[in-house]
This record gives sequence, C-alpha cells and structure tokens, in this order.
Amino acid sequence: QVPLKPGRSLMDWIRLTKSGKDLTGLKGRLIEVTEDELAKHNKREDCWICIRGFVYNVTPYMEYHPGGEDELMKAAGTDGTDLFDQVHRWVNYESMLKECLVGRMAVKPIAAPKEISSTLSEGKKQLNGMLPEKKVLASSAKDLTPSYDWFQTDSLITVVIYTKQKDMNEELVIVDCQDKRLRGEIIMDDYSYLVEVDLDHAVSEEVAVNIAEKIGKVEIILKKKDNIHWKMLGQPLGCHNTFIKRTDRELFYRKCKLVSKTEVTHDTKLFCFMLPKGTHLRIPTGQHVYLKQIITGTEAVKPYTPVLPFLPLDFQETSHHDGGHIYLMIKIYSCGLFTQALDHLQIGDYVSVSNPEGNFKKSQVQASEDLILLAGGTGFTPMVKLLNFALTEVSCLRTAKLIFFNKTEDDILWRNELEQLALKDERFEVQFILSQPTKDWVGKQGNISSSLLSEFVKRSRKDSKVLICICGPTPFTEQGVQYLKNLGYSQEEIHAFTA
Ligand code: FAD
Ligand code: NAD
Repeated sequence: QVPLKPGRSLMDWIRLTKSGKDLTGLKGRLIEVTEDELAKHNKREDCWICIRGFVYNVTPYMEYHPGGEDELMKAAGTDGTDLFDQVHRWVNYESMLKECLVGRMAVKPIAAPKEISSTLSEGKKQLNGMLPEKKVLASSAKDLTPSYDWFQTDSLITVVIYTKQKDMNEELVIVDCQDKRLRGEIIMDDYSYLVEVDLDHAVSEEVAVNIAEKIGKVEIILKKKDNIHWKMLGQPLGCHNTFIKRTDRELFYRKCKLVSKTEVTHDTKLFCFMLPKGTHLRIPTGQHVYLKQIITGTEAVKPYTPVLPFLPLDFQETSHHDGGHIYLMIKIYSCGLFTQALDHLQIGDYVSVSNPEGNFKKSQVQASEDLILLAGGTGFTPMVKLLNFALTEVSCLRTAKLIFFNKTEDDILWRNELEQLALKDERFEVQFILSQPTKDWVGKQGNISSSLLSEFVKRSRKDSKVLICICGPTPFTEQGVQYLKNLGYSQEEIHAFTA
C-alpha cells in the first residue's frame, strides 16, 4: 500500500463514480477491443487494462489505487488478470471499476479443445480470458481427481465425496446448503473439488458432515423435508464436479449474522458472527476470510483474520471453538471506510463472509521447537490461533514468545490474558514494546529495529528449530523480515503474513 493524496480515498472514488462524469472517454458506449488497440493504451495518462476479458480505462483510477500507480502501470495495455489475481483477486473490481468499462476483448478464432482435460497449457493461454475457465489437471493426474456419489434412505440424502487423499480433515471441507442449493468444496493443497447442485427437493436447514480421515471419504448428510423418493440428486450448477486450482475458483460468500460485539480496547472490538445452519466452515490457523458489505451502493471487501473467542489458558481442553461462530478482532479507524460501516452494524444484521484463504501451512509450525511471534497492532490476530495450536498440539515445542509492538499501553490487545497465559504456561513469554509510550511506561520502547530484535529473537538452544512469524503494518513486516535476515535467519525460518 502507498499513501494516497488527500481526496483520493476509496470513498472519494465511489463519489467520483457516482458523479455521472464520463470516466472512459467513450460517453457510455461499449466497444470491442482488439489486442492491438489495447496495447496502444499503455501510458499513465491513457491506460487500459484487461481483466477476465473485460477492458477498463483505469486512467482516472490511478491516483485512487491503494497499491500505487506503478503497480497499476505494470499491466498497462495488457491482460492484467494474472497480476490482479496474484495481488488481490478478492477485490470486486467489477463493482469498483464499472464506470471505467470500455468493453470486451474481441474474441480471437481458436481451435476448440478436443476434450475438457486437454485444456490449454499456461503458455497457450488466451490473452483475452475468453477460453473455458476450467483448467483441468493433466491426464497423468486424472486418477487423483475426486469423484462423488449419492444415496438415500426414507429420510436422508447422503452425498459421498471420494477425495482419494489421506489426512482429510474438517478444515478441508466447506459445505453450504441453503434454499435447496448444495455446495460442497474440498480443499486439496492448491486445488479445489466442487459439488454444486440445485437439489431435487427441499431439505431441512441442518447439515451433518462425516469425514473418514484415513481413507479420505467425506459424507454430507442432508435431511429430507418430505419423506419421498428422489429420482435424482438435482440439477448440476455452473462449477459442479470440477477439480481446479483454488486460485481459479471464485470466492464463495455466505451471509452471517452479527450476534455480539464486545470492546477489547478503546478502538478495537471483538465481533461474533453466526454461520448459517447449513454451513460447515472451519477457518484454518493462519488463514483469513473476506468480509463483504455494500457501502453507498458499491461492494466493498476487506480481509480479516478469525481469532478465538478468548485466549484459552487451559490448553488441555481443545474444544473451545464451537464451529458455528466466527470471531473477528477488528480495529475501528475513525476515517476507515469499511470499519466504520462494520461499527455501525446492529446485532442481527448480516455481513457476507468468504471461504478462507492464506498461504500459512500448519506444517510450518509442527516441527518447531522455538516459536517467535512478532506482532504490530492488529497484526496480533493471526497469532491467536497460531499460539493456541502450537501450545496445544506441537509436542516438540519448547518456547513460544510473543513480541507485541503497539503505539500506547491502551492499544495492547488482550494484555491481561497474555500476562495470565505467561504465568500459567512456562513455555510462553510475552514482551510489550511501545512506539509512543507515555512518560510512566517503564517497559521497552521503540520501533522494530535490529537491536530490539537481536535482544529478543533468540533460539533456546544453538541448533534448535525456530519459526518466526511476523504480522502488522506493511512497513513493519517488511523491515522486520529484513532485520531477521540480517540476523542470519533463513527464509524457511520466517513467515510473514501479508495480503
Ligand atoms: P481504509 O478506508 O482503508 O483506511 C482509511 C483510513 O484509516 C486511512 O487513511 C488511515 O487513516 C486509517 N488506516 C487504515 N488502515 C490503517 C493502518 N493499518 N494503520 C494506520 N491507519 C490506518 N484488521 C483488523 O482490524 N483485524 C484483522 O483481523 C485484520 N486482518 C487482516 C488480514 C489481512 C490478510 C490483511 C491484508 C489485513 C487485515 N486487517 C485486519 C486490515 C483490514 O483488512 C483493513 O485494512 C482495515 O480494517 C482498515 O479498513 P478500512 O476500510 O476501515 O480503512
Ligand atoms: P498501529 O498503527 O497501531 O501500529 C502498531 C505498531 O506497528 C506500532 O506501534 C509500531 O511499532 C509498528 N508500526 C506502525 N507503523 C510502522 C511503520 N510505518 N514502520 C515500522 N513500524 C511501524 O497498527 P494497526 O493500526 O493496528 O495496524 C495493524 C496492521 O496489521 C494493519 O495494516 C493491518 O492491515 C495489518 N494486518 C495484517 C494481517 C495479515 O494477515 N496480513 C492481519 C492483521 C492485521
């Protein structure tokens, strides 16, 4: 993110798009754009970009782009789909840039693929993104493609997914069943398998999920509303029975009800959202979700990292998360577009919550002996589940240390709870460091620096296996990673949480 000029916030952009001004220079006409034409618009003062086959004139958006003009210019006059997906595929550009739409890419004639499994290789991918979206695995990997079946009794429908993958677990299965629409997604490393049907008959709201972990069989059990015999499971929907890269799967959202909002500090609140009854969703440690709200007519999306309802002190007991709720610790910024809207939600209001994303893998911490967590402000949020997981389930863990950077004492999140935990569990230690302390602060102060890190980031033994996780404002994370590398820690020993 780069600092934007005054008057260039997202809210200002929304205002501009609603002003009726001609942002494309085409007076509302939509045109077909050839590759040659697109390539001509590659300058800052005349910049077109193609995303998924649609071309946008992003010239007026330049100064509003949170990532800066240079980032946008990387895709000037070309297909920016891949770049966009790498950086923020969760941003709803269709809504944000709808007034900048120039038109569609002209379709180039191409030979139709013989069968779906022979879909083009990356190298041959069409510029205009008009080809079938389904990128299927090479045929050698076909045997690994999951499959599904279904059967019924008088009262139940069971959909069985054979994932052909050992070590299936609850976090890899996401089910949503609402209004006769069933969506079951299985996450398998970087791939996703989807069963998506419009059910033949109505089912009750509750859904049960059984996982045979060792053989990789997943059962989704639905209760029939009426005890009648179904002739078929239902009509397949758009992406039914596809096995594609996760990044090619559209993010799925479900509406969740706000059930409570409690103060954590003067500006940070713990929001509890209830998942719909027909949803099975467990957010993996280290991953985030996206929240979506309509703000003055425009869809806005922001990422947040689920935490636990509280910091458990007794790590013997593992069943604190009930599965039906998502807890988010969110700082409300006085001029923040999204957080202001969140803060104005009433209990009982709904917000859309996405499937989880993120590149942290539990296996990174599973072999750690020393876990060091560097958090800046709400960068504390991914550390909550991570700490819980490490202290509960990582048997080789010897030490866990949180170095928590905040501006003032009042900003420290869950300070009491952290201090209690440090008293209770001798493996855990917490260090608070303030960047803007009052005179009476006797603890450590300063910003993240080489000297602070060399004082606090240490292995418990010379050759112990260490994992250092860092999360906070972007400059904090970037500087931290650099200092750690200068101190001799390797890339594999560092995990930075970023967008
Ligand atoms: P914006 O409208 O984007 O910003 C408006 C103004 O708010 C800015 O001009 C500035 O004055 C102020 N502001 C915004 N962000 C900052 C900042 N970082 N530092 C100082 N001032 C700022 N946030 C949480 O509270 N909890 C989380 O669990 C969480 N998880 C995240 C996970 C990921 C992967 C990422 C990338 C971010 C996460 N965030 C989290 C940040 C969150 O996504 C939003 O950026 C944040 O809530 C601000 O949104 P906003 O629309 O209210 O502010
Ligand atoms: P903040 O402004 O209160 O700052 C907290 C501490 O971070 C400061 O005391 C200081 O030590 C350090 N810091 C702040 N700005 C710095 C800078 N420019 N250079 C070096 N150090 C700096 O933090 P906040 O308002 O709570 O913001 C937390 C940030 O963490 C947000 O930017 C949010 O997007 C990010 N976050 C990211 C994730 C993720 O997974 N990627 C998760 C949660 C939060």
